[in-house]
This record gives sequence, structure tokens and C-alpha cells, in this order.
Amino acid sequence: MSEKIHSSAKNSFVMSLLKIGTFALIVLLWFIYLRSNHPTYWKSIHSQIIAPFQRWPRELTSFGSYGAYVYSIGAVLLVDFIVLKKKSALAKIASFRPSIRLDLILGAIAILGFAWVIPGIVTAGFSAIVPRYFSKWKIDLIADIPSSFLKLLVYFVVVDFLVYWHHRALHKFQPLWEFHAFHHSATSFTIFTGNRVHPMEFILKIPMVVVPMLFIGAAPGVLVNIWYIRRIFDMAQHSYVPFTYGWLGKWIVFSPVGHRIHHSTQVEHFDSNFGDIFPIWDHIFGTWYSGNEINEKIGIPENEFNKDGVVADLYRPFKKTIPIL
Ligand SMILES: [Zn+2]
Ligand SMILES: [Zn+2]
Repeated sequence: MSEKIHSSAKNSFVMSLLKIGTFALIVLLWFIYLRSNHPTYWKSIHSQIIAPFQRWPRELTSFGSYGAYVYSIGAVLLVDFIVLKKKSALAKIASFRPSIRLDLILGAIAILGFAWVIPGIVTAGFSAIVPRYFSKWKIDLIADIPSSFLKLLVYFVVVDFLVYWHHRALHKFQPLWEFHAFHHSATSFTIFTGNRVHPMEFILKIPMVVVPMLFIGAAPGVLVNIWYIRRIFDMAQHSYVPFTYGWLGKWIVFSPVGHRIHHSTQVEHFDSNFGDIFPIWDHIFGTWYSGNEINEKIGIPENEFNKDGVVADLYRPFKKTIPIL
């Protein structure tokens, strides 16, 4: 009996490998075709999938937005350690448990600049082509604002509004939830948990966040800087420090406790605190958690993740949503 189970598991693994291999070959042929026939599109794909490897290791002495982002990781880790000591992210990282390992692998991929490589391959390059194509029709809605800082602030608020609705969609629709469950399957916060995002979430951000932002005139470089600033907030939120930030955390910027409630296993916390940086969207659209209960545990019921390795965990949502896989 156990031999039967063993051989059927082996067969399904081989079948999965065959399907992935066939897909990879088709994508490769498609890239070869684009390279010789559509050099402009190929340039975008190259900058998303191949250039990050050529730039690595990055210039860590840079004090530009990337440098500031990398150094801020140390600062957030230090505050987390001073406040939590044995329960800190650093102590959890040292334990190297499966949920922590997944955070670290995805964290390293994002921090080193490879976050868009998998979405680029999975979409056969369309994650690079689509934004390039749509940016042709942009209308600069805030061209009259003279200050570039103020412009950045406006874009920052608009991005956050779009991300709020992107996040609500991920919880609302079952197939999308299967991919977002990957983020919620973390059983502990390591400050890197925010990088534990399924590539399909990135792909969905293209029509819901990236294209609208390009359309209203945000330059791609501005979007990259916004991304780095958001990552710093994101790290602070995925920490177990018991900070609520008081009224600031309720109205201005999401606190670690505010986001921990969104990850809660307690039913009363479900479907609340969707906001990314600004909690104001939750207040406006009625999803702010106004109770006083703070959860100790985070995760999802019937958690199938964190057992079979990162590849299996990334593949699982595809298997659940696409019957032929
Ligand atoms: Zn969520
Ligand atoms: Zn989160």
C-alpha cells in the first residue's frame, strides 16, 4: 500500500516537472523570437529578468534609495531585538524553522533585486511588456504641482489607495486568496515576512497598481523609489514589537500591532486592517478593527504551507486554482 502511494507521489512529481519543463521551453522560444523581432519589448524584459543578475552584487555603499532601504533593514532588526530580545526576529531567524526559512529565502530574493524575475518568466515577459505598452497613453494629472516632493507624496497616497483595493480583492475572490494565503501562512513575523509574497500577487499588481500609476503620469523611477520607501514601512509592520503608535497608528500610519491583527487567527479579526501604509482607507471603507483584543498568534486555519519547501509552496496555489496542473 505504502509503495503504491510512494510511486504515485513520484509519478505526480515527474508529471509536474514535465509540465514546468514544457512551459519553460515555450517561454524560452518566445524570448528568442522577441529578441530578434521586437527589440524594444525585449529590452524591457531584459531589464526585468536578466539585468538584476548582471547588477549583482549591488553597490551597497550607495546612499541612494536602494542603499537607504538596505541599511534600514539593520535599523529595524535592531529595534526589534532591543524590544523583544529572546522573542525577536533575530532569535527566530537563528531557530531556522520552516516558516522562517521561507521568509528568509523570499526576503533575500527581494532585497537583492530579483523580485520581478519569477513574475517575468511566469508571464512570458508580459509583466514587462504590458506596462511599457500602456505608458504610451499616459496623462500627467498633476503636472501643475511645482514641487517634486509634493508630487511624490501624491503618488505615494494614490499607490496606497490602489494597493488597499488590490489587497481586498486578494481576500475577496477564492482563486486570488489561494495565492495570498502564501503570505498569510507565516506562523511568525521575522520583519522579512512582507517579502513572502507569491509572484502572482506581483502580476496582479500590474493591471491594478502599476498601469494606473503610469497612466496618471508617475515615471517608472518614481515607482521604484516609492517601492523602497514602502518596503521599510513593511518591515516594521511585520515585527512582533507591541507598538500601536497610539493615535498616529490609528489614523496616519499602520503600526506592527495594526498589521498583526490582519494576520490574526482569531475570527473577530478576520477581514480587517487591509491598508498597507495608511489606515485611513480602512476607516473610510469600514474595514478598520476597532476592538481592543490583540492577537498573539498569526497564520491561517488548515495551514498546508511550510512543510514541503519553497518550490512546493509556490506551486500549490497554481494546483488549487488550475485543474489541469
Ligand atoms: Zn491579507
Ligand atoms: Zn502582512
